[in-house]
Amino acid sequence: MRIIAIDGPAGSGKSTIAKRLATRLGLEYLDTGAMYRGIAFATLRRGLDPSDQEDVARIVRDVHMQVGEGTITVDDVDATIEIRGPEVTRAVSLVAANPEVRTEMVRRQREWATERGGGVLEGRDIGTVVFPDAVLKVYLTARPEVRAERRSKEVSDLSYETVASDLARRDALDQGRETSPLAEADGALVVDTSDLTVDEVVEALVAKVPS
Ligand code: C5P
Repeated sequence: MRIIAIDGPAGSGKSTIAKRLATRLGLEYLDTGAMYRGIAFATLRRGLDPSDQEDVARIVRDVHMQVGEGTITVDDVDATIEIRGPEVTRAVSLVAANPEVRTEMVRRQREWATERGGGVLEGRDIGTVVFPDAVLKVYLTARPEVRAERRSKEVSDLSYETVASDLARRDALDQGRETSPLAEADGALVVDTSDLTVDEVVEALVAKVPS
């Protein structure tokens, strides 16, 4: 299987770069963060507490989620816009810390890639947990103020300060959780994207993909 694993914190450029790299290599692309956001969306929609381990575990067992390139449906409801909203963004790291959620998401991600014979997957644990044998493992990073600047351009209705403090909070939760914390995988190529263009990063990665 030809798997490219791209991990890193929010605002490091993962989605943009993973999509472009997938197109360049003729592979499909999976945004695994959208899956965790889908679980947070389902939790809030049912009026449940995202930090309640048992309630969230129950949702994960029976939720029907379809993630396309840039779209997501959760129990047949189009959640594409709402999964990027502030409520889901606030709740997502809590549901992502739930071990039962992670086990099921990892199972679905492996199934997705197996059905396609590979792909470009981006997230927080792709190179460490989901596909440690990926042909290329990448860890993207960027200075915190650069990441906050990028995110605040995407979500124009929130102030820079709100976005920056949300990123710092999510970084702390994602790096500090017990199950699959955000970390560089062994052998990952680490790229600081702060002062690079998207093209420069994509070309650097293409050059590293074994033929
Ligand atoms: O990539 P994005 O910022 O949309 O991810 C949202 C959240 O989903 C992250 O902050 C993290 O808590 C969780 N996540 C994860 N593992 C992944 C992808 C995302 O825990 N592979």
